Order: sequence, then C-alpha cells, then structure tokens
Amino acid sequence: MEKIEEKTWHSLEPDFVLKEINSDINSGLTTLEYEKRVQKYGKNKLTQKKETSLIIEFLLQFHNPLVYILLIATLVTFVLKEYVDSAVIFGVILVNAIIGFVQEYKAKQAINSLKNMLNTKTTIIRDGKKSLVLSSEITFGDIVILNSGDKIPADLRLLEVKNLKIDESSLTGESVPAEKSIQIVPEQTVLADRINMAYAGTLVSYGQGLGVVVAIGDDTQTGKIANMINEAVNIETPLTKKITAFSKTLLWIIIALALLTFVFGYFVHSNSMLDMFMASVALSVAAIPEGLPAVVTITLAIGVRVMAHKNAIIRKLPAVETLGSTTVICSDKTGTLTKNEMTVTQIVIGNDTFEVTGNGYEPKGEIIFQKQEYKNTNNNALSELLRCGILCNDSTLVHKNNRYTIEGDPSEGCLLVSASKFGLESNAINKEHPRIDSIPFESDNMYMVTLNPISTEKNAIYIKGSIEQILNMTKNSLDLNCNFEKLDKEKIEKQANELASNGLRVLAFAVCYVNKSYDSLSKFQDDIKDLNIHFLGLQAMIDPPRPEVIEAVSLCQKAGIVVKMITGDHKVTALAIAKQIGITKTQDALSGKEMENLSQEELAKVLNTTHVFARVAPIQKLQLVTTLQEQNHIVAMTGDGVNDAPALKQADIGIAMGINGTEVAKESADMILADDNFASIAKAVEEGRAVFDNLIKFIAWILPTNVGQGLVIMFAIFMGVTLPVLPVQALWLNMTTALFLGLMLAFEPKEKGVMNRQPREVSEPILNKEIIGRIFLISFLLLLGAFGIFTLSSYQGASIEESRTLAVTLFVVVQSFYLLNCRSLSDSVFKINFFSNSYLLIGVALMFIVQLCFIYLPFMNNIFHSAPISLQSWGLMLLYGLVSLVIVDFEKYLWRKKRV
Ligand code: ADP
Ligand code: MG
Repeated sequence: MEKIEEKTWHSLEPDFVLKEINSDINSGLTTLEYEKRVQKYGKNKLTQKKETSLIIEFLLQFHNPLVYILLIATLVTFVLKEYVDSAVIFGVILVNAIIGFVQEYKAKQAINSLKNMLNTKTTIIRDGKKSLVLSSEITFGDIVILNSGDKIPADLRLLEVKNLKIDESSLTGESVPAEKSIQIVPEQTVLADRINMAYAGTLVSYGQGLGVVVAIGDDTQTGKIANMINEAVNIETPLTKKITAFSKTLLWIIIALALLTFVFGYFVHSNSMLDMFMASVALSVAAIPEGLPAVVTITLAIGVRVMAHKNAIIRKLPAVETLGSTTVICSDKTGTLTKNEMTVTQIVIGNDTFEVTGNGYEPKGEIIFQKQEYKNTNNNALSELLRCGILCNDSTLVHKNNRYTIEGDPSEGCLLVSASKFGLESNAINKEHPRIDSIPFESDNMYMVTLNPISTEKNAIYIKGSIEQILNMTKNSLDLNCNFEKLDKEKIEKQANELASNGLRVLAFAVCYVNKSYDSLSKFQDDIKDLNIHFLGLQAMIDPPRPEVIEAVSLCQKAGIVVKMITGDHKVTALAIAKQIGITKTQDALSGKEMENLSQEELAKVLNTTHVFARVAPIQKLQLVTTLQEQNHIVAMTGDGVNDAPALKQADIGIAMGINGTEVAKESADMILADDNFASIAKAVEEGRAVFDNLIKFIAWILPTNVGQGLVIMFAIFMGVTLPVLPVQALWLNMTTALFLGLMLAFEPKEKGVMNRQPREVSEPILNKEIIGRIFLISFLLLLGAFGIFTLSSYQGASIEESRTLAVTLFVVVQSFYLLNCRSLSDSVFKINFFSNSYLLIGVALMFIVQLCFIYLPFMNNIFHSAPISLQSWGLMLLYGLVSLVIVDFEKYLWRKKRV
C-alpha cells in the first residue's frame, strides 16, 4: 500500500489542489479511478491498536479489595506449608480474573460492535452523481458534501463553504465551532487555524460545504493521535459503583471478623496458632462473594444484547440500568410516534380546496375539485404551488422493484407525488429550472428556500415551511388564476387550523419573482422584509400514528412513566395526533413561544399537567430536560438534529434516531433507535427493568452463600469445635454455585408485572428490607442445616472428611432450591413456569454433576479433603432443601399479604 504524499494543502489554491489530486469538483472520481486508488492507497479505515492495554486490563482484575484478601490468604497458607490450599486459592483468583477479564472484554466488544453497526455514512460525488456511502469506503480524491450534523469522514481540503462551522473540539480542544472558508493560509499555520481544512472525526455544527479528501485512515490528523482511536468504553454503572463501595465495606468487616475469630479461638479455646490462621483464612474466603462483579457485568451485557434485538442500541452500559428507572419519556412526533409516510390529501389555494386521492408514494391518484377531477394544464396558481413543491425539495422519488420509495425527507417526498398526480414530473421540472442556490431546512428556521431560473429575465425564489414563518414573510397572496389578493392572514390560519385539527401536517408555500441579477440567497434572510413574496397556498399531508405506538404509550403510562410529545410541528396537529395516540386527553398544549414567556417555576408547574409541546425549538428541549430533572425526574429524551445534542447529553437517557438522526445526535446519545420507533423505547425500558430485577435476584441469591458460610465458621469457632468448611471447600462452593446456579438468573425472562409497577427510584437502596430479611432467613437456614448435618454425622461416627463434605453439599442443595425461589422477587415459586428458563435447569444439572465429582472422585477428594457420602444423607438433604423452599415461599406470601 502506498502512502499518500503529504502536502500543505491549506496553503494551495483550490484549483491547484484539485489538479494535484486529479479530481473534479463537479463529477468527483470515476468508479474506475476510485477502484484504482483503493488498490493503491487503501480505504479510509483506522488500524486498531490494542495489545498493550489488554495486559493492563487483565492486571486490573486483581485490583479489587476482595482479591487482596484472597492474595493474603494464598500467602498465609503458603507460609503455613498448606501448598494444596495455597494453590487452590490462587487458582481461584486466577480463574476469577480470567472470567472477569473475558466478560469485561466481551461486554466492551458487544458495545463496540454495536457502534460498528452504526457505521457513519457520508455523501460524496462520484461519477458525477451524489451518493451516500459508508465513511470507511472513501479514498483519496473523493469529493465529500458536508451538511450540518455530519461527522467529517477523512481530512478534507474545503472547496466550497456556506456558513460552514465545524466543531473541532475533539482535535484542538477548542469548544467554539471554527468558522471555515476556502481562503488559503500560510504554510506554517497551526492545525487549529487552518480555516480551509476539515479534519476527520470533527463535526459540522452549522452550514454546508464541499471538500476533497486529502488524507485517509491512519494518516488523518485524528488517526495520528493514537489514543483517540480506541475510545475507551466505560462499563462502570451506578450499580457496579455501589457494589465496589460495598466490597470495600465488606473488606473491613471480613478483616475484623477474621481477627476476632483468631483472637477468640486462640485465647478462649486455646486452639493452635496454625488452626486459627486457617480458620481466619476460611472465614475470609468463604465470606467473599467472588463471583459477584463478573456476574453483574455479564447480566448487563446480556441486557445490551437483548435490547439490540429489539432495535434499541445501547452506546453506554449504564443506560441499561438507568432505563429501568425512567420516569418521563419525551418523544419526537414525526417518524417516532407517527409513521413518517406522508401523503398529501388536501391542497388549499385562495378560497379553494382540492382533494388529492391515492395512497402512499405511488403517484397514482387524482386532484379533485368540486367533486370532479381537475385537469387544468394551463399555468395557474395550482401548478405554480406544485412546482414550488418540486423545486424547493431535496428528496427524490425512487421506483425500484415495483415499489415507490422516498430518498430523503418524507414531508418533501410526498410533494413530488402530489405534483405527479397533476402531471408535473419532477425530473423534467428540475431540468427546466436548475437550482442556482438554496437554504436547506433547519428545525430552527422551519423553512427551506431555493433559487431557480424561470424565464430569460427572471429568477424565482421558492419557499416552503411552517405556516407561521411563511405568513410572516409574505405581502400578498395569489388566487387560483394568479391574481394578487390582499393577504388574509386570519382566513389562512383558519384554513390551516382546520386541516391541522384532523392531525394533518400542513406546509405553506410562497414564491418571489426577482431579476436575474439576484443570483444568490446569501442575503435572503436580511432581504425578506424588502422582497415582494407571494403566498401560494397550503398542502396538507396525513402522517398516521404508528399502530404499535398506541399500545406502547399505554404500557408506559401503566408503568408510571409519563410520555410527552415534543415536536416542531403545529400545535393543533400535535394535539390531534397526541389524542389519537393517547398521550393526552385534555386540550393542554404549550407552544415554544408560550414557553419563552414562562418563568422557570411556571414551566415546572405546566410540565406537571401538559404533555404536548409544539413548535419547540431544539434549544428549548434542553430547558425541558433540566426543568424535569429539577423535579427529580429521570428523563429520556429523543432527538435527531445537531441542535438536539445538548438536550441529548443532558438527559439521563439521550436517544438518537438511527435512520433519520444526524451523526452528531448519535454521538451525544446513550441509546440509538435502529427503527426510530417509540415502541422500541418502551421495550427498552421494559428490558431495563427486567435486567435490574435479575441483578437483584442474583444478589439476593448469592449473598446467603457467603453469609451462611461465615456464620457456620464463626459459630464453630465460638463453640470450640472443628471447622465444618475448609478454605478450599468454601472456594469450591463459591465458585461453582455462582457459575452454574447464580449466573443462570441472568437469563430469567422478565416478570409479567414489570410494566405494572412504578419506576424504581434511583436513591432507593439496591436491597430493600424484604430482600435483606430473606437473605438472613436463608443464611440462617443454611447455618442450621450445615451445622446440623455436620454435627449429626460426626456424632454418628463419620470421618471428619465425610462430615465436611455433607456440610458443603448441604449448601449446594439448599442453594439450588433457593435458586428457584429467587426466580421471582415477590411471586410464589409455584406460580412460575418451571421450564421457562432452560439455562437454569441445565445449570442445576451441571452443578449436581460437578458436585458428584467433588464427592466421589478420588483425586477431587485429595485436593478438596472431601469424601463419599451415603444415599440416606442425600435423601435427608433434599428434604431439607425442599423445606427451605417452602419456608421462603411462605415468607414471600407474608410480604405479599402485607402489601395489599
Ligand atoms: P417534527 O418535530 O414534527 O419532526 P420539524 O422540526 O421537522 O417537526 O418541522 C417543524 C415544522 O417545519 C413543520 O411543521 C413544517 O411546517 C416545517 N418543515 C418540516 N420539514 C420541512 C421541510 N423539509 N421544508 C420546509 N419546511 C419544513
Ligand atoms: Mg422532523
């Protein structure tokens, strides 16, 4: 692979640059040339550099307070010449580190691969045509088109700019977007001041531009900064942080108890120093939940995978958890709550209304006027309005495989369809009036403008946008026969309102005829008041609600989650759709303008009862998020444009649209909707709750193993009898049960009632009284059972090895039964379909197989000081397990009764 020659592109004139690179600003590279260059220079990909950090990540597994205790235990047993024990303990540390490492690695990979699923795309010019390609597929010399919200795919020398501003903070640290131009700058200019360059990985925050690729992949400025390539994936979550904090507390408790045990045993019972060392070690290793951190990460990672299947792509692991606590979802309307499959059904000009028949994007249908097909091909206001819809438009209608689809914005695409039903074909019209200049649609402006030639002397400025904006800029209106009329704002507003009240989305159209000398729109915004702009009329389109959304909204409401609609669309349209979907029953809606006049307190109050926010500017979304958060809400907020980024970052769950979202929005989001569908948010919330449930189930299950053993060992010491559980046995127990039993709770299907209860409060402790009580209950049952069977068999004259094996096996049996209890936090075990989690059944089976090895295989007996046990004792233990299961089930029943 050859390296592209580095030049100081910023100090060279555009024409010269293009000649050097051998590309063309209008037609780009040819496919043939592109392929040649890919052969020669490769594609725009970064090489992954990772090896070094892997070792460190592995070593980090040992950086954990609980592991320190185990390391000390290894050392102590080694000094005491208990080499087998020492090896086993160290083995456990190692196995644990490996499991933890592999799991973390997998979790990170999972999130990374999800990121790759969202490969960024770039618009380029190749073979003289615009096309959308993967950013990784471009090469040296490609011509790239930039729009606000785009991520720059490679290093570019800019050739055309229009108010272009680029956020280069990732490269230069400068937080104010850099204004770009095509002026050359001196050779020695520093990176941050090269105003005619755009660098890979930076973001277009405003305007448009066009540039030629001068460096790709590792040779880009970003590629050269090695540490930026592997953007660290953070897999810490609020819960894992709490667990780490908990581990630290646990560390001190365990050390204190171990010391106490040692002192008590040594001085009170005058046991040997060696025995007491081993007892302290046993207590420490038994009380540490070795499997806890790994299982938590695994459970979260499984959640990420399940959510991805449901079109909710998690970018940040903590989001899985936060989702379960969400109390408000603020959702876009168009495309998220509705289908975004627009069909124009009505056109209004002057006092006349035209009906448009036909469905979807297929240009089959008629324009009906006064109950008859309207086929006036003379140039009148209708054809001018439809022409405006074609020319002031960035979408294309595509006919492929007998299906019509839209490339671009559906609100624009449907205008091509309605024009076509009148016999106006977009290709012909576009050729006749090639675009001279344009101002693309931005949610902040709510209008789009183009400049096109219409005759040898005249150009036309075509404008389409929101009714308010268009009425503000027009001076008069045209009737059907193109006579000028006084602009009757009230009448037009009334017409628009009536359409909107049926849930139709209304676009207004206007035109302004200017002389040929008016050949650029760069001053249009300042000229508006001086230009004689004529109001043309309205096109109203239906955008039906997504049927599945209606159910999803009611699901959320039952789950104590408030759904709010935030839209740029008209208030009346928004309300109509909100009612159809069930977001509101009242007439309450707030517009962006009204919002401006409210104080923070007033807004907070309005937010309690109002669920529809219309004509909201992107910046106001931020205010909505912060106001809700001040009221202790956990806010999920959707967005798609560049201007939504601040709100997405501020929200507890920022949600970007996968299909219609800009790269900037995706970059700022915690979660991305692959299908832009609100129903997927509801599903993700449901999954989030289920994941959290499963984590609590696991914690409720694992802690008794440790508390129970701790109690058994301490009890033995205080009674002055031999240890019922040895350190190696405790480790065996902790590791195998966590792996074969506890982990399987991560696969537990969600409980039926997850969406029938209120959101979890974030401040709520992980374990409530009920769960803590249950943990102690089962720990006590374990103590009773293990100590009982140990004493009984010793009393009957069994060997110490056999008695200990019985104690250990009792833990396995009781924990297997208790596992079934843990499948639900509140429901009876007999209410759960026994076969609904096959992992769990397989896990129990595996657990018994390895436990049989532990008991009956001679070499296992050597390592673990275990011994075969009798069939009778099996019967006894299974019975005890069953009794414990029933006791816990009864305890749950008492709680349920107490709650109602
Ligand atoms: P939404 O929240 O419904 O997606 P948008 O911010 O996309 O709202 O649009 C707000 C308003 O801007 C629309 O109601 C419409 O009047 C106008 N508008 C939307 N898309 C376009 C467009 N492509 N060109 C001109 N005006 C548009
Ligand atoms: Mg929109």
